[in-house]
Amino acid sequence: MLRGVNGLCDGCVHQKRIVSGKGSTFSMCLRSRWDARYPKYPRLPVTDCEGYEPATRTEPADPFDATRTTPSPSGR
Ligand code: SF4
Repeated sequence: MLRGVNGLCDGCVHQKRIVSGKGSTFSMCLRSRWDARYPKYPRLPVTDCEGYEPATRTEPADPFDATRTTPSPSGR
């Protein structure tokens, strides 16, 4: 299942989104810290990954995420 612009990573518990000082966003795989099979910054979109584990968060980390289904508290 391809969830967002980053593919599976957008719905994975191991993803950490990094925002640069210039506003660019990067998808970091935290699993790379203990498992060498996974790159720190995987080639996107990730469409197949044995390390994928669904995240249980109810709010997307990115308020501009196109998959968002509920409005943010700021109304954007
Ligand atoms: S384990 Fe796979 S799906 Fe999850 S963040 Fe890393 S590369 Fe993406």
